[in-house]
Amino acid sequence: MKHSFLIKYAEIALKGKNRHLFEGALVQQIKYAVRSLDGDFEVKRTQGRIYVEGEGDAYEEDVIDALKHVFGIVGICPIERLEDDDFDEICRAAVAHMGANYPDMDGLTFKVEARRARKDYFKDSMEINADVGEAILDAYPWLRVDVHHPDVSLYIEIRESVSIYSKVIPGPGGMPVGTSGKAMLLLSGGIDSPVAGYMIAKRGVKIDAVYFHAPPYTSERAKQKVVDLARIISAYTGPIYLHVINFTDIQLYIHEKCPHEELTIIMRRYMMRIAERLARQNNALALVTGESIGQVASQTIQSLLSTNEVCTLPVFRPLIAFDKQEIINLAQKIGTFETSILPFEDCCTIFAPKNPKTMPHLDECLKIEASYDFESLLEEALNNIEVKFINKNSDVDDLL
Ligand code: ATP
Ligand code: MG
Repeated sequence: MKHSFLIKYAEIALKGKNRHLFEGALVQQIKYAVRSLDGDFEVKRTQGRIYVEGEGDAYEEDVIDALKHVFGIVGICPIERLEDDDFDEICRAAVAHMGANYPDMDGLTFKVEARRARKDYFKDSMEINADVGEAILDAYPWLRVDVHHPDVSLYIEIRESVSIYSKVIPGPGGMPVGTSGKAMLLLSGGIDSPVAGYMIAKRGVKIDAVYFHAPPYTSERAKQKVVDLARIISAYTGPIYLHVINFTDIQLYIHEKCPHEELTIIMRRYMMRIAERLARQNNALALVTGESIGQVASQTIQSLLSTNEVCTLPVFRPLIAFDKQEIINLAQKIGTFETSILPFEDCCTIFAPKNPKTMPHLDECLKIEASYDFESLLEEALNNIEVKFINKNSDVDDLL
């Protein structure tokens, strides 16, 4: 099966040098998206247009689905592409396109919308519209022209090649990953953090991830769940370096030394500290979490104030004002929900106190932390990181 698509992207961000960066990143992400499909695909960029062409066993739906995962795409148009701009050929292809896509649809209305990027073409847009329209009506007299509210708009673009299409399938929008720097996502096995990573990647930010693992209190299966979540979102974000931090010693130390009402918040502060150091080591410019105001005791504004205080990098919390149901809806849309609700233990819940403070005082945290020495434990955790390279195109995580 042959595939040809014209990719539409929002041109709003495309001034001067940005355009080159934006298009280059978009081409990269499209190549990544189609790599796992059955067939040979080529992504071409010419004169402000991106085309995806391929041949192989992949179904058109599968190609479209892959492209729907690429941020920056606003429209996916399956096209008939002609190398030759011979006008009779254009008419034949336009007639064939209407016949193949809208067979026997009595009374269907259409209009032809031609665009000439080459002004030297021997007919202008109006003439092309009229003549191609006439050819279509000759072939299918049961169709009607309606230039104001047509059922079908048939687009004809004459550039160095000719594209004919009538369907614009919506893409996800946003910006291509790789155009807005990199951030470190704190990825747990829960519902929220994968969604948070997806949302930040949608703004063009490349995502690295960190997971705090507490063996033997958290199992290999809990870790595998995080790997699986990272793989699901990597279909949108591109490949992810997942840093697995062994958090057991730090958690045991906190559990032993700290008053239990403050335990969660102090643990969260250590997660943020480690994530920030890891971010700096990996040239990430921000942290990302799945926090939402008031969702749990550690996410009241007072708690957020205390967790935030240990970071100097910006912390992005894209879900901050979302209700749980809104987050669940997004998790279902992006395909992480079913994995997120698998019942494996999380390091936060295992060490969770019965009555966590909902209004922890920052002074209190500072006092507690000042009386113990966490530094060597932090360094040890940062020196023993397991890094996995996670990629939607592979079931094997390349261990680095
Ligand atoms: P999630 O559904 O994302 O797990 P949550 O509602 O369970 O969130 P918390 O457990 O309070 O909330 O965690 C808040 C945020 O802290 C998470 O969204 C995530 O970004 C980060 N986080 C929590 N636990 C871990 C962990 N074990 N490893 C990495 N990040 C974590
Ligand atoms: Mg959680």
